Amino acid sequence: MTFDQLGLSQPVLQALDLKGYSEPTPIQTQAIPPVLEGRDLLGIAQTGTGKTAAFMLPSIDRLRDAENQTPYKSCRMLVLAPTRELAGQIAQSAKDYGAMAGLKVHSIVGGTSVGKDRNKLHRGTDILVATPGRLLDLIDQKAFRLDAVEILVLDEADQMLDLGFIHALRKISELVPKDRQTLFFSATMPKAIQDLVGQYCRNPVKVSVTPAATTAERIDQYLFMVQQDEKQALLEMILSERHKVPGKFARVLIFARTKHGCDRMVKKLAQAGIPANAIHGNKSQPQRERALDEFKRAKTPILVATDVAARGIDIPGVSHVINYELPNVPEQYVHRIGRTARAGADGVAIAFCAEDERAYLKDINRNTDAEFERLPLPDNFRAVVEGVGPTKPEPKQQRGQRVQPRPKGGAAPAGEARDKPKRKHPSRAGKPRHGGQGRPQGGAGNPGGGQRSRRSGGGGQRREG
Ligand code: AMP
Repeated sequence: MTFDQLGLSQPVLQALDLKGYSEPTPIQTQAIPPVLEGRDLLGIAQTGTGKTAAFMLPSIDRLRDAENQTPYKSCRMLVLAPTRELAGQIAQSAKDYGAMAGLKVHSIVGGTSVGKDRNKLHRGTDILVATPGRLLDLIDQKAFRLDAVEILVLDEADQMLDLGFIHALRKISELVPKDRQTLFFSATMPKAIQDLVGQYCRNPVKVSVTPAATTAERIDQYLFMVQQDEKQALLEMILSERHKVPGKFARVLIFARTKHGCDRMVKKLAQAGIPANAIHGNKSQPQRERALDEFKRAKTPILVATDVAARGIDIPGVSHVINYELPNVPEQYVHRIGRTARAGADGVAIAFCAEDERAYLKDINRNTDAEFERLPLPDNFRAVVEGVGPTKPEPKQQRGQRVQPRPKGGAAPAGEARDKPKRKHPSRAGKPRHGGQGRPQGGAGNPGGGQRSRRSGGGGQRREG
């Protein structure tokens, strides 16, 4: 299948040529023809599948065909996205794909000047990518209307609900014209999302590229059972490669549950001579952009993030995702590990599970098709955690950075070998793993810093709009 067989126009095909896409991804093959026909669409797909182009390419063609004027203080296509980063990426894609189509593209997100947004949207735009909160701010200020919307896209709807945007979405659904086309995307389909689909879509064509809550096939998933206050030590051993894990490090994305936890982890990594950046809702937009940029360029290839900040981030070449804390929502695990193994690459996901996170692990096992291979702790882990064993090599001194001695003591007694053997997924039996071998040994100790892991936690979740 080629893009021109899907019925796309010449300007769009030219833009795709420039992007270097030679053939459509499965979701693009399935979604583009019905969207070109004007049908509503329900897409069940994770980021990394090419879903942005799946909705953006045919929409650009429909906007071109309709030849309506750019509406004053309104837009013709509205794309709603949960986070600033994702909104920025979608807007950039719209500009790239629509380069030859002469359409105006803007994005508005929380955390920036509302006044500037008001000014830039005064004359309207063809395509607007927005986070729901900021959009409603402008509507409330009578600076923007939704009465000219021809195409409405909800991207990562499940994440928008998780972030508490349900009321905003209900309100927006009342403000858009009834005869619009709706393209609805979600990685998972819990009941609340199904209700929302009923509210937004009319007889949608359903396109699913992976079943709901499926962990990406090309990701090898490993599990360490490790006490909460020993996680930092294990992390440092892994990142400094004193304890080998499968796969070659290129870019490592680490998920922590709280903003404070991210910052603390980055500080401790720095003390161990391992430079890393943090990205979360308390960081300013320039800080977030810089961290992402350094990660993309692999200048600082270790990024510590909360769920909300990492959502939708499209960075090729993430070799490892480390779940420093397990998410309390199983679907979130699927989203997190989906940051690796993008665009056909393989990936490695490593989960750290503490005693009080076993319930989350059980939930992940029950509600997703995750298959973990349990890895043993390093041989000398206990000794290193307690600060008496074979010590780690001197940390590499960063220029201008003071490497501080590792805190002694404070580590709780050993917890290894307390858990049952790993639940082996039947379909996984005999499947070769990344790198094949068993592994581990090495050691270090550093209290992980008491991050919460209560079921109700979710401290990293923050609305961004
Ligand atoms: P998305 O799922 O929309 O976040 O897209 C994931 C990544 O795949 C992005 O970096 C896109 O630029 C890229 N991509 C989308 N469609 C194609 C395609 N047909 N061929 C190659 N790369 C693509």
